[in-house]
Amino acid sequence: VSIHDKIASIKETGRPVIGCFPLYPPLELFDAMGLAPVILWGFSDNIGRTPESDRHLQDYTCSVARRLAEWVLSDAGQALDGMFMYNACDTLRNLPEILEAGTAAAGRPIPVHRIHLPMAGPDPAVDLSGYIRDELDTLILELESRYKITFSAEKFEKSVHRHGKIRELCRTLEGFVTDGRMPFSDFVRTVHQNGWHSSDVQVPFLSSVIEKTGCLPAGNPEPVKGRVLLSGILPPPHGICDAIEAAGLRVAGNDIATLYRSYADTPAPGADPGRYYTQFYSQHYPCPTLLQTADRRTEALIRLARERRADGVIFVGEKFCEYEYFEFPYLEKQLKAEGIQTLRLEIAMGDASSAAHRTRIEAFAEMLGERV
Ligand code: SF4
Repeated sequence: VSIHDKIASIKETGRPVIGCFPLYPPLELFDAMGLAPVILWGFSDNIGRTPESDRHLQDYTCSVARRLAEWVLSDAGQALDGMFMYNACDTLRNLPEILEAGTAAAGRPIPVHRIHLPMAGPDPAVDLSGYIRDELDTLILELESRYKITFSAEKFEKSVHRHGKIRELCRTLEGFVTDGRMPFSDFVRTVHQNGWHSSDVQVPFLSSVIEKTGCLPAGNPEPVKGRVLLSGILPPPHGICDAIEAAGLRVAGNDIATLYRSYADTPAPGADPGRYYTQFYSQHYPCPTLLQTADRRTEALIRLARERRADGVIFVGEKFCEYEYFEFPYLEKQLKAEGIQTLRLEIAMGDASSAAHRTRIEAFAEMLGERV
């Protein structure tokens, strides 16, 4: 089922659809206000070519931004009633203006709502709560005025609980990959497709997959060659996920932005968006796109690798994403000091499952197999 079908079913409910980027928008708030947020990420199954985007973005832009722009600027983007973005990498910095101008030129302007996140480090002397609270208050006023809706603290608290549950179910499902019940590529499809449902459908959808998968027998507790973590912005294409498991490796966990970094944890529930999002953004599971979390990243990755008893980490580099690439050498050095081996793959627009990637994965698996 494509993203178009999913969004069409949301629109039947009459809720305005808000396309969001980057990956960590205030989903709980949109939901509580009767809007349907959809994160515009994970299009690799649906968008192979980017002719519309190529008229605006250079070909040394990452595939994430090119596919996102293609989807919004093509006819498919007509499904959106609004867009939301916050500041992240340099690639995305001017994208709202490009999309705003592009959709206006096509005669179907889409409003873009924005907040700015301060990228300050974890200095306890710097209190960001007032700034983030102001940004949220301004956003709420803008949404109320634009969509003729009202904010309710009670609905917000319920929405916070629901999104906490969705993240918890994603973690449960990931456990089935770790114990060999579910191929990693099926897990990726399930979690990405889940994000294109409205949130009230997400809990029953994930619960039914968990119920069915939980009945299957667990796989061999010890994989043939070794246990690996995958790290990157996006998971690798399905063919490469399958090649990793076919090489005898078990995906014991992931540090992927569209997956674990999105569902790893959630702040304590509450009815105050200012408090909730101050904690959400300042304490978020580390991701290079949230610069304020950068100092905690190495420690978090090593802790995850230890918890999952990983023998190796496969870095899935998104071509042209300097945010991830800047960190790889340091992370590799720190992991090797812990006795954890690393492999770096680079995935570009159009990569599916190249023979070169498969050969390197098989060689990495052989090397790990000799050590475990
Ligand atoms: S963080 Fe990296 S992958 Fe994501 S949009 Fe920016 S450059 Fe592209």
